[in-house]
Amino acid sequence: MPITPLHLGILAPINHFFPKKVSNLSFLLITLWMDAEIILHLFFQGPVREFHGPHTHSFLAAFSISTIVAGVGVVAMVLWDIHRPIRNAPHRALAWILGAYLGGLTHILLDMLVHPEMQPLAPWTKSNPFYLDAMLPVTVLLVVPTAWFILQSVSGKGDVIRRAWDRQ
Ligand SMILES: [Zn+2]
Repeated sequence: MPITPLHLGILAPINHFFPKKVSNLSFLLITLWMDAEIILHLFFQGPVREFHGPHTHSFLAAFSISTIVAGVGVVAMVLWDIHRPIRNAPHRALAWILGAYLGGLTHILLDMLVHPEMQPLAPWTKSNPFYLDAMLPVTVLLVVPTAWFILQSVSGKGDVIRRAWDRQ
């Protein structure tokens, strides 16, 4: 994606049709982690090994990163639950896991359409057979759901990020 926040547009219809079933927070964490190198470079001139490289932008990397975020979140939830019981803890844990894996998977599915240098199938192949040169259409398609997601967040409807941990 040209702009990382556009990935969050995926959450708008999910929040609407399946409220509280997918954690916005774990989805956001995955999104930021996968684009962290690029974000740090843009804002702080941080070093970049490779734009959209296979260490973050491949199915294998996304699965690994999602598994780490999902696992750490669930362990934190279990530890928290021991000291202060969480309402609907199993459902929240499942939502957290879904958010993590959905964030990782959709990140790759969207980015591989617009970044020719990506290696989504690494380490098995360095090519990107899914590249469609579709930056403009994908960006335009995501602007509306991203605006919808922002509206959900500021209006307090849907599964907003600031309530993602506490009230899912
Ligand atoms: Zn990305």
